[in-house]
Amino acid sequence: MVDQNKKPIAVIGGGISGITAAVEASEAGQNVILLEKDPWLGGRVFMLHKYFPKLCSPLCGMEINFQRIRNNNKVRIMTQTEVQSISGSQGNFKLTVKTKPEMVNSNCTACNKCVDVCPEERSDDFNLGMKKTKAVYFRHPMAFPTHYAIDADACKGESCGKCVPACEYKAIDLSAKEKTEDIEVSSVIYATGWKPYDASKIDYYGFGKYKNVVNNVMMERISSPTGPTEGKITRPSDGKEVKNIAFVQCAGSRDRNHLPYCSAICCLASFKQATYVREQYPDSNVTIFYIDIRTPGKYDTFQQKIAEDPNVNMVKGKVAKIEEDKATGDVIVTAEHILEGKKVEHRMDMVVLATGMEPNGAGSGTGLPVHGEDGFIALDQLNPGMFTTGVAKNPTDVTNSLMDAMSTVLRTMKTGDKA
Ligand SMILES: Cc1cc2nc3c(=O)[nH]c(=O)nc-3n(C[C@H](O)[C@H](O)[C@H](O)COP(=O)(O)OP(=O)(O)OC[C@H]3O[C@@H](n4cnc5c(N)ncnc54)[C@H](O)[C@@H]3O)c2cc1C
Repeated sequence: MVDQNKKPIAVIGGGISGITAAVEASEAGQNVILLEKDPWLGGRVFMLHKYFPKLCSPLCGMEINFQRIRNNNKVRIMTQTEVQSISGSQGNFKLTVKTKPEMVNSNCTACNKCVDVCPEERSDDFNLGMKKTKAVYFRHPMAFPTHYAIDADACKGESCGKCVPACEYKAIDLSAKEKTEDIEVSSVIYATGWKPYDASKIDYYGFGKYKNVVNNVMMERISSPTGPTEGKITRPSDGKEVKNIAFVQCAGSRDRNHLPYCSAICCLASFKQATYVREQYPDSNVTIFYIDIRTPGKYDTFQQKIAEDPNVNMVKGKVAKIEEDKATGDVIVTAEHILEGKKVEHRMDMVVLATGMEPNGAGSGTGLPVHGEDGFIALDQLNPGMFTTGVAKNPTDVTNSLMDAMSTVLRTMKTGDKA
């Protein structure tokens, strides 16, 4: 039984791990405060076109969670909110949290009339800069909570103000101010997730320099009906259909100069993305350059099935460099072919770098507790009453994130237990 006098649990991060922790704890009777830095919940899973291994849309599972959270009076959702400081100890933590100005309130019906009149544009971070949105925008047709947001950096504020009279529901207040609040909680769960490794740091792969070298999260967006090309797989430089594509595995991963660890999902992600191309263009060819393939457990069958496709060419060897043919926009991949003992060159329409997941705690000034050089949050190094789950803790897939979030909630609700 949950002690009804117990303070709420704070869950920091509203991706699939944080949402799962929040709904599971609340359905067991525990009050929860779910803090998310973005205007919407869902995290990175929303960016994926399909899930391996079933190749279904991640939106179904997400919608079930939103249903569970929507009418749940035990979960307080605070979006656009980040923790400034934490004091106290297990059972009695005080969190000082800062919420960005809420310029669009819950009266919003997502009718889009504000977007129609907004004159300002911003680069769409959800589509990794491959598209623009207006300064007032909605991330995704299924984004939750269902209200638009205003990017304060792109909006001209009250000096423009065109969206205010356009909104018949009085949902927009351009004079809204930032708010700071102290909240008292019994324990804290970090579910702050990941970001794609910045592949421009691997200078010999040309990411950021050649338009047709993209990372694997961009590939998810390019393949998605809600992405920049509405799901038509075309290359960024000229919109040409991508019929000859290479995936470069371990792009920065398992490399002391970049990410020293294996992200555990990149091989599966590339095999999954190979199916996006093969299904859309039956005459396409996919080449996967790999060091060794890591698809543990039941995922091995998924990988084997895709690798059996005669139009999927597996090349064991490290990619040494990627160059651009300026005249055509094609990209030339030079690699060592270990099994044939020679150097090979392949001309491609587009190259996808299978970049790893870097924890959001990595780097300075994130305010997150990190342990070791990787930037992950280690459970055994946190103070009592503090927990970590999902990719904030270690690189993993959604199924394992869900299981980990559930077990973390059990530990959190057992007062005094940390490990
Ligand atoms: C290319 C690619 C394809 C993938 N495909 C699959 C697949 O098909 N199947 C599968 O099972 N897995 C897949 N994965 C892995 C999957 O994306 C992760 O397992 C999943 O995103 C983990 O969810 P999470 O909630 O832990 O993290 P996230 O999804 O990153 O969510 C973290 C949340 O925390 C928020 N946050 C961050 N910092 C703060 C802060 N300081 N304060 C408040 N909020 C904060 C973020 O805004 C975000 O909403 C793929 C990964 C990649 C790279």
